Amino acid sequence: VKILAIESSCDDTGAAVLVDGKILSNRIANQQVHEQYGGVIPELASRAHQENIVPVVDIALQTAGVKPEELSAIAFTQSPGLIGSLLVGSCFAKSMAMALDIPLIGVHHMQAHVLANFIDDPKPSFPFLCLTVSGGHTQIVLCESPLQMRVIGETLDDAAGEAFDKSAKILGLPYPGGPLIDKYAKEGNPTRFKFPEPRIPELNFSFSGLKTAILYFLQENQQKDPSFITSNLADICASIQQRIITILLNKVLKASQETGVKDIAIAGGVSANSGLRQALQEYGEKHGWRTFIPKFEYCTDNAGMIAITAYYKYLAGEFASLDAVPTARAAF
Ligand code: ATP
Ligand code: FE
Repeated sequence: VKILAIESSCDDTGAAVLVDGKILSNRIANQQVHEQYGGVIPELASRAHQENIVPVVDIALQTAGVKPEELSAIAFTQSPGLIGSLLVGSCFAKSMAMALDIPLIGVHHMQAHVLANFIDDPKPSFPFLCLTVSGGHTQIVLCESPLQMRVIGETLDDAAGEAFDKSAKILGLPYPGGPLIDKYAKEGNPTRFKFPEPRIPELNFSFSGLKTAILYFLQENQQKDPSFITSNLADICASIQQRIITILLNKVLKASQETGVKDIAIAGGVSANSGLRQALQEYGEKHGWRTFIPKFEYCTDNAGMIAITAYYKYLAGEFASLDAVPTARAAF
């Protein structure tokens, strides 16, 4: 089985080639145009996908040493995401599938983030729990099999990635600020400043209160000392990061206790965070979990995760028809 997978849900154009369950290439074209605006501009994202998609697919096939005629199927991200971005990937995938007369596979982006844990060994056993933390989502997912998964907790407002990015923005850091908070936090004291842990029922999350708390805390301190942020940046970043991590992992702990599941995976862009990766390990040792973290390149948006999901769908005979349309939102 040889699958070409395309990911274009947001601002990165990705293409990957999978052969018999192994990823042979995973390429991505990042879009720099959004940085100056402090966020992704959907219209600019679609245009950049148009420019990037042919070269990225070309290079993914070349790297893998696979010719288009050898492909068994073409996979694409069908939802959720920015509709203009999704349309570029889906139209490209459909055209290529039609031209080669091979099946088309539509993939749910959030399911793919979870299945990024199945690209390399060791893989989690079923059932397992996955904490998916990305730019647009924060979910605890109970996975029964590769294609059977259920969201048992999610954010009521901002996603974890937004909590990082918005905090960074308040600190005057450029977008996306998550990786920068991670970087500064490494030199900081995480217990220096205390931010509140919200009391949210069940397995759900909320980050908007934290954002407000950070904003007021910084305004108050900047008033007293205009150089407060610059002279305490590392400690502020470490303290914010620490709070986001404990909010996340305390809910995962609750989910593990309620379900009795002890195989715990993380996924999504925020799982690239070094503090979260380390804290997951520590929680794991303390609570007897087996923990799973995808390789860095499979955490943030990538086509490798679309390819592995498409592989399971291929084996299950789950194909999309040529009139399949992408949607901005969808449950799985
Ligand atoms: P979704 O998958 O929900 O549609 P997305 O695909 O835009 O959202 P991802 O690419 O999975 O999101 O993740 C991007 C987010 O991850 C951004 O908010 C970014 O700041 C955050 N992020 C990336 N690296 C780190 C890091 N090292 N520490 C904290 N946050 C990070
Ligand atoms: Fe994503």
